[in-house]
Amino acid sequence: MEHFFTAQLDRVQVRHLPLDDNLNGWSALLPARQTRATLRGKLAADWLVVGAGYAGLAFARRVAENRPQDQVVLIDAGVVGDNASGRNSGFAIDIPHSVGSTVAELTTADNYKRLLQSGTADLRALVQRYGIACDWREQGKFQASVSPESSPAMEEYARALETLKVPFELLDKAALAKRLGTGYYGLGIFSPGCVLLNPAALTRGLAEHLPANVSLFERTPALGFQFGAPSEVQTPEGQIRARHVVITTNGAAAQLPGLSNQLVNLSTYASLTQPLSAEQRDRIGNPDDWGLTPVYAVSGATLRYTHDHRVLIRQQVRHTPRFHNRAADTARQVSQHRQIFLSRFPELQDVAMAHSWSGLISFTRNGAPRWGKIGPNVYAAVGCNGAGISKQTVAGSTLADFASGVDNPLIADMQALGQPSYVPPRPVLDLGVNAYLLKENWAGRHEV
Ligand SMILES: Cc1cc2nc3c(=O)[nH]c(=O)nc-3n(C[C@H](O)[C@H](O)[C@H](O)COP(=O)(O)OP(=O)(O)OC[C@H]3O[C@@H](n4cnc5c(N)ncnc54)[C@H](O)[C@@H]3O)c2cc1C
Repeated sequence: MEHFFTAQLDRVQVRHLPLDDNLNGWSALLPARQTRATLRGKLAADWLVVGAGYAGLAFARRVAENRPQDQVVLIDAGVVGDNASGRNSGFAIDIPHSVGSTVAELTTADNYKRLLQSGTADLRALVQRYGIACDWREQGKFQASVSPESSPAMEEYARALETLKVPFELLDKAALAKRLGTGYYGLGIFSPGCVLLNPAALTRGLAEHLPANVSLFERTPALGFQFGAPSEVQTPEGQIRARHVVITTNGAAAQLPGLSNQLVNLSTYASLTQPLSAEQRDRIGNPDDWGLTPVYAVSGATLRYTHDHRVLIRQQVRHTPRFHNRAADTARQVSQHRQIFLSRFPELQDVAMAHSWSGLISFTRNGAPRWGKIGPNVYAAVGCNGAGISKQTVAGSTLADFASGVDNPLIADMQALGQPSYVPPRPVLDLGVNAYLLKENWAGRHEV
């Protein structure tokens, strides 16, 4: 595998830290949490894991279990549960969205399926073992389209499920209306494997139950790396000397050598309504809780009707090369989210949006993650490609097995996903990304 760091010491400064200037709605539903200390002073570790999202939490847990004598330090620039891992729509997805038609694409889709199902199974086991109260709901998911013009894309999705041998139900408008409580969608495909959950509660729970040889520090950004043997990492008030460094900072990793031309940083936005009263629930036929993904991920809206009777809307994707979402960017999405909500539920005019927020996601051009050893004693699991609850969990745990020499057949599945293809530097990148988003918004214009 290609390495980007030389055997001599390589020094890297971090210029931008991820920032969402708004309160995550999922966290707002939870009790206040006592955050872990900021690192002050010097520390030595066998493993330093940078970034406490699903990938970092899974890596830290697994490496600590594999090597109980080792000291593992996990740092995060912000607060656990307030990152993308806590801000997402809460679909622990079990199958890849598309398959393609070549033998290579089919093999990759099969690898992905095994990986995603393993990530979900790991999370399920942890939720059960530690009693993590994250509203874990094995409800499956609907993929739905609004307009007949999207039928070819829906047929393609159904073919993908057949190829992957995933059971599914095809639903027409009337059947969907009965299950969802909205007659807005024309065609739907229900598949049973997806889990719906509160992602902030899950992320907090995972962090609360780390093995005893993992020390977690919050509000402790890595500001400078000096890679070597050992590596040294500078934080605002401290310094960590570590034998191994693991980068699980998702898109922010684009600031490191060799990763800058592989990752594209985007943002997407979500809102949660107030909980519906019993009378409001009656108006929409009292459906069970459900989750729905759109046939066009960029232009369409992801929706959930949650276990506590709220509606979640996730829609709009923007280029965010500096990882910063200003409050004004999010405020602009709120009226669009309200329109989406009312188009689906015109009978719920009296239900207000309670929370709106943003979150960062990173993409690679060909969908392959950046996973593996990226230099002497340096590892990375980044590039979530928009879906990371199950995927980044399994990316983190398999990377820990790989780095600590533990045999795991899923390592071969991760390696078979390949490496990200090249993305040009800014401003060419900006033009390319914005052209792509325009194209996708146009293609799915009937689906909003
Ligand atoms: C609105 C929204 C909806 C989504 N919906 C879904 C969904 O339903 N299902 C799904 O599977 N995925 C979904 N996603 C994507 C999912 O949230 C991500 O794929 C996942 O969180 C990525 O996990 P990660 O551990 O790789 O990265 P992150 O969760 O981004 O964690 C990276 C961590 O690195 C930290 N960090 C960055 N720089 C530094 C530094 N210099 N020093 C220290 N720490 C640093 C950050 O603070 C952050 O905590 C959604 C995302 C968004 C924003």
